[in-house]
Amino acid sequence: MALAAILAALAVAQLAVAPAAFAEAPRFSREPAVEQRIDALIQAMTLEEKLGQLTQQWGSEAQDVNPVVTQTKRDDLLGLIRAGKVGSLLGAHGAEYTNMLQKAAFEESRHKIPIILGNDVIHGYRTIFPIPLGGAATWDPQLIEQESRVAAIEAAACGTHWTFAPMVDICRDPRWGRVAEGAGEDPVLGAAMAVARVRGFQGRDLKAADSVVACAKHYVAYGAPEGGRDYNTVDISMQTLHDVHLPPFQAAVRAGVGTLMSSFNEINGVPGSGSRYTLTTVLRERWGFDGFVVSDWSSVTEMIAHGYAADQADAGLKSLTAGVDMEMSSFSYRDQLPALVQAGKLDEKVVDEALRRVLRVKFAAGLFDDPYTDPAIAEKVVLCAEHRKLAREVARSSLVLLRNEGGVLPISPEIKSIAVIGPLADSKRDPLGTWAAVGKADEVVTVLEGIRARAGDGVTVRHVAACDVRGSDATGIPEAITVAYDSDMIVLVLGESEDMSGEGHSRSVIELPGQQADLARVMQATGKPVVAVLLAGRPLAIPWVAENIPGVLFAWHPGVECGNAIADVLFGDFNPCGKLPITFPRATGQIPTYMAHKNTGRPPLEKERYTSKYIDVSWTPQFPFGYGLSYTSFAYRNLSVSPRELKADGTLTVTVEVANTGARAGAEVVQCYVRDLVGSVTRPVRQLVAFEKVQIAPGETKTVTLSISAQSLGFHNWDMKYVVEPGEFKFWVGDQEGTFEISE
Ligand code: BGC
Repeated sequence: MALAAILAALAVAQLAVAPAAFAEAPRFSREPAVEQRIDALIQAMTLEEKLGQLTQQWGSEAQDVNPVVTQTKRDDLLGLIRAGKVGSLLGAHGAEYTNMLQKAAFEESRHKIPIILGNDVIHGYRTIFPIPLGGAATWDPQLIEQESRVAAIEAAACGTHWTFAPMVDICRDPRWGRVAEGAGEDPVLGAAMAVARVRGFQGRDLKAADSVVACAKHYVAYGAPEGGRDYNTVDISMQTLHDVHLPPFQAAVRAGVGTLMSSFNEINGVPGSGSRYTLTTVLRERWGFDGFVVSDWSSVTEMIAHGYAADQADAGLKSLTAGVDMEMSSFSYRDQLPALVQAGKLDEKVVDEALRRVLRVKFAAGLFDDPYTDPAIAEKVVLCAEHRKLAREVARSSLVLLRNEGGVLPISPEIKSIAVIGPLADSKRDPLGTWAAVGKADEVVTVLEGIRARAGDGVTVRHVAACDVRGSDATGIPEAITVAYDSDMIVLVLGESEDMSGEGHSRSVIELPGQQADLARVMQATGKPVVAVLLAGRPLAIPWVAENIPGVLFAWHPGVECGNAIADVLFGDFNPCGKLPITFPRATGQIPTYMAHKNTGRPPLEKERYTSKYIDVSWTPQFPFGYGLSYTSFAYRNLSVSPRELKADGTLTVTVEVANTGARAGAEVVQCYVRDLVGSVTRPVRQLVAFEKVQIAPGETKTVTLSISAQSLGFHNWDMKYVVEPGEFKFWVGDQEGTFEISE
């Protein structure tokens, strides 16, 4: 594409950051002309070339710093590409470098098949947005779609065609480090976020220069490892698999996601990358998915360690026949499968089918038309002012106000000196969070910088880090006490560093690490007004803070605009509106604790011993799913439902009035929960079924209407049939409740 055309397309795309109206999910083209070209390629290719297309390898080594090593690696890599042995690379960045690699494939290999370049663009490319768990706390799919559009624009400008995102794993165990990368505990919120991100990444037209192919991962149930330990065994009921973990993937497929990534974990004894049931029966035969599946990093050959495959050849055979089309970073397909085909143990048609799926996505992404990237675009779009502005908007919308005793927030104009205390207050690296693509720490606005900028000259802002995030050094606490006594108020910035969540970073205890809890206690003991701003990649168990620090703002890892977004909320320029996408326990030992739990035969009762509870901590969470305060107040009135009795194919309309009864404009997330009172398998006590975020002016009342199809109220019964059973339902919106019935 000529530069002018690309820039014109980009201009349109920038304007179109608003959510695209998708009449129906884009599907991977089965245009006869494309299918014929694919047939012709398959016919002309050797088995080795076919398997090359099904191989993805690391591609950034050849761009590293040591020129001697780099040149050798570059020559090796280019040689492999020219020989048709590489269908995809990951880890390659920058237009010039990726164009060079692409040229070897598109101009110098026998069949001129472009490589598809993948990267982990999880919450922004260079303009880093909040970690996805924070993104989910916005409960605003339109905003998240805009964020993902921006991420795609920047990534595509730097040579990325494909992002390994969104991660749509449902997680009810915040010990798991990768909880940071997903949308939390709930399949309905999770599905909404999955769709938003797929639409944002892929845009209206997958062929456009600024769209990237999305990848829903990790298929499936990776978010449910035993003990919260990464990569660990997953042993779940088929009902939970189908009703909780699969729905966000299905939503992504319906939204037209181009690829899925198969997971590391086993699911009831079968590794995700070897599961024919999930990869073929469910994904392709039931859902009609027509993109391709890539394995997670070496997850094919890790099936040997799982005890599911005897050796590399067996692993490759099992993954390919189960439905994994492309192998990431291990080479059992490329190295082992030719012998199996020759020995008659693998039908070449299986290879052809996987190849067809990969090529279809390459065609759909426009790579056969023009796989190159114009280096001039990146300079215009990467970290541009408009993108930073959106990063600030998403970040401030993701902040959850957990406590505000005595209206300690927003900071009053009377405050003339602020002590900003804590090891995360001036951290540049930690606000980026896990998987921050090519984000740079020096581009981050720290909490301290944001507060200083907003407070202005009339307010004295002093900072003491006081202690480490994780370690035992607390030598700065005495100085922090002195500065605190000398200030009108304290803003404590505590939590987790960016390397305490993410892949391979599970925790066994999710409390404040290091000396930070002690720091909080001494700061509170000064008697000064204290506000705690908590940065973390997961929910924290913070009972003392939640009950003793008057102001608590949960900020996740908010990205490059961290300090500005937090200052916007602390000073009241923006009214907090985030709601928790995951339950916050009081103690790690309560995990799993989540909204849509079952009732048991002995639901907890305070004074009755033989009921389902603990002797050392309440059974209730510290903060439930969906929770979050505002600087204004909302009143819910006149809940109604129509019809009261509906058939299994009907649709329910729930209407409620929401009044802003305070003095500030604010946004409220209207959430509708149901309980199916009696089921042929028991149903959750409260299950989110619909939500909408509305802006309401002070004194204004808005009528919110939510549509709920009876079909969405079904579940998998004992025989694993999806059923919508007749019976009574209770439902809740805010503090209002009602009932309806599904009839025979
Ligand atoms: C992660 C994936 C990621 C891949 C490529 C793996 O270790 O589990 O989520 O996409 O690496 O970086």
